[in-house]
Amino acid sequence: MDTGVEWLTDTAQMEIEETIPTPIPMEPPRIHRLDQAVVNRIAAGEVVQRPVSAVKELVENSLDAESTSISVVVKDGGLKLIQVSDDGHGIPYDDLPILCERHTTSKLSKFEDLQSIKSMGFRGEALASMTYVGHVTVTTITKGQLHGYRATYRDGIMEHEPKACAAVKGTQIMIENLFYNMSARRKTLQNSADDYPKIVDLICRFAIHHSSVSFSCRKHGAARPDVHSVVSSRLDAIRSVYGVSVARNLIKIDASDSDPSSSVFSMDGFISNSNYIAKKTIMVLFINDRLVECGALKRAIEIVYTATLPKASKPFIYMSIKLPTEHVDVNIHPTKREVSLLNQEVIIEKIQSGIESKLRSSNESRTFHEQTVDPSLSGSMDMGKDSPNNPSSSGLKSQKVPVHKLVRTDSQDPAGRLHAYLQIKPSSQLQGSSCLTSVRSSIRQRRNPRETADLTSIQELVKDIDSSCHSGLLDIVGHCTYIGMADDVFALLQHNTHLYLANVVNLSKELMYQQVLRRFAHFNAIQLSDPAPLQELIILALKEEDLDPEGNENVDLKEKIAEMNTELLKQKTEMLEEYFGICIEPNGNLSRIPVILDQYTPDMDCVPEFVLCLGNDVDWDNEKNCFQTIAASIGNFYAMHPPLLPNPSGNGLQCYKRRVLSRSPGGGNFSETAEDVKENEFDNELLLEAENAWAQREWSIQHILFPSMRLFLKPPTSMATNGTFVQVASLEKLYKIFERC
Ligand code: ADP
Ligand code: MG
Repeated sequence: MDTGVEWLTDTAQMEIEETIPTPIPMEPPRIHRLDQAVVNRIAAGEVVQRPVSAVKELVENSLDAESTSISVVVKDGGLKLIQVSDDGHGIPYDDLPILCERHTTSKLSKFEDLQSIKSMGFRGEALASMTYVGHVTVTTITKGQLHGYRATYRDGIMEHEPKACAAVKGTQIMIENLFYNMSARRKTLQNSADDYPKIVDLICRFAIHHSSVSFSCRKHGAARPDVHSVVSSRLDAIRSVYGVSVARNLIKIDASDSDPSSSVFSMDGFISNSNYIAKKTIMVLFINDRLVECGALKRAIEIVYTATLPKASKPFIYMSIKLPTEHVDVNIHPTKREVSLLNQEVIIEKIQSGIESKLRSSNESRTFHEQTVDPSLSGSMDMGKDSPNNPSSSGLKSQKVPVHKLVRTDSQDPAGRLHAYLQIKPSSQLQGSSCLTSVRSSIRQRRNPRETADLTSIQELVKDIDSSCHSGLLDIVGHCTYIGMADDVFALLQHNTHLYLANVVNLSKELMYQQVLRRFAHFNAIQLSDPAPLQELIILALKEEDLDPEGNENVDLKEKIAEMNTELLKQKTEMLEEYFGICIEPNGNLSRIPVILDQYTPDMDCVPEFVLCLGNDVDWDNEKNCFQTIAASIGNFYAMHPPLLPNPSGNGLQCYKRRVLSRSPGGGNFSETAEDVKENEFDNELLLEAENAWAQREWSIQHILFPSMRLFLKPPTSMATNGTFVQVASLEKLYKIFERC
């Protein structure tokens, strides 16, 4: 007899029976085959998630059928009716019975074909899916036929023999009552904003890529279409669907690679220049003519924009990438919305650098005059107006000034730290008067050629950066991976098989210096909510320098120095503002400082020292030296120094301990004896502030400093020997040691 416990002795078995209650036997659930109708409906829900996904499938079918004109009509956001008509090759009469069966297709016969598939469809699922969740009617005529045929479909099956009918060239597919049998989905779609804007957006995207096909899209019953494109050049197509405001601010881009060991691709498209202003990135991406999304590429391009253009707005990007078909796996998503690429990272990097150089050269070639008088910068124009058809116009309206809370430090602090709420404003969007100043200065520039000569000294300084660049270090900063902070100053990096410690203070100082020169005269501004008087700032800085801050002997001297320096800087305000975005008001208050790296605000505790440096360290006599020393002072100010408050995550924690008086046991009085001082009480408020400051810095190092360094830093040769980089280990050697162990 099989008791299942044969190996137990009788006594042992009895013991078990006494202590553990006998479990009620549980039957495991049995597996059964799902009903085909259920399978089909589940699959249908995946392919046709919402009306816009049905439209995408239908339009792709029309494109696959080599149509030159495609029109879309939609009622109730697509829930009542979606109708797509084309002038393509039509569907043969004999295929109509199986047209809407699942996995019937004319585009693929064997698995290997998938490797070289060029058509957009191939799974034979779209039409079938629609018949499970809606009522489908197909009208079609093929070449040479006298009349067309019409057939209706439900649940994959043709409901009756096709009926002869009058038809114009091509195919018309009509989906009625979408999700009529999926009440939950219908309800959520009815409740949420309807799909019509999404459909219009989709057709706009197709229209600019397939500029040799004319597209239209309208609401059922509407006299005018919301999208109407005619066969034209790509740029004209963009103009007609996205509007003049987009089209006139575009730069043509291309990039390619044909090295099979890294990547093989070609890319072309259009991207917005620095005059374009929008709140949201619009990225229209086609890979091998397939409309897809690629979050990694989008983010990579956004980084280039933020880092390259002083007035970084969210970009408009149209991009078409062509790759060998065998390098793209289109079959990773049922709706083929995502694709997987071979060598994606290499391709993204190449595209990034292509875009970067285009942006840079376009930005340099623009004259100051063009930039300041362009009405699109006025910040008040409704850019959607010139494009009545433009569904995305809301995304293109003039950018509101973003309010940055960023820094709020403690004015009660003994070191006199600044209490500042900051606002970042594109310099052109500041008060009317500053706009006027820029226009005036542009006129001055044209009238007075001597002033434009200033730029040659800047060009020389930028050239100096290029010529002293260390190629080995350039490779390291360009391709390293940030691992983390090793201590307060050194970050740990990996480059190939080597680990390095890199001094982030030196690196950020140099990066900021280089960026100041590159952004020369094109800075956005960080606005100080409480403009700070220069004289007081300088006195504060002098006190900090002083070993005996409370001593009164030097007070007069300090005041004298502060007064002289303030006067000096007041004389230089025009130049400081125009070229470096440092604004000093007539009353001697510092009111604005420049944005050097987007989304980065320097440590405002360092303002006093910065102002002192401007007064003391700048060589005002020689133009080139002057620009260089100002850039260096700004670089030093913006560098990512360790915060003033000691790092609470290391030994610094000791500094936040508070001497607290405790009640002596038994007695009712406070005791002040040393033994009673509690050792583990912390000044929590200060501790929190310190933790925030350090966390914020580490975030900036990882998310702002390193990505920007990869793009922009040209490390000078001196960094190879001055301790900025220290190689700490070679992973190869470490592996060898491990192997030996
Ligand atoms: P797939 O596109 O993956 O082949 P679909 O279900 O979308 O699958 O379409 C099934 C087939 O119906 C297609 O392979 C094509 O032969 C035919 N078809 C669908 N729409 C059209 C159209 N507008 N014009 C011509 N043929 C079409
Ligand atoms: Mg299809």
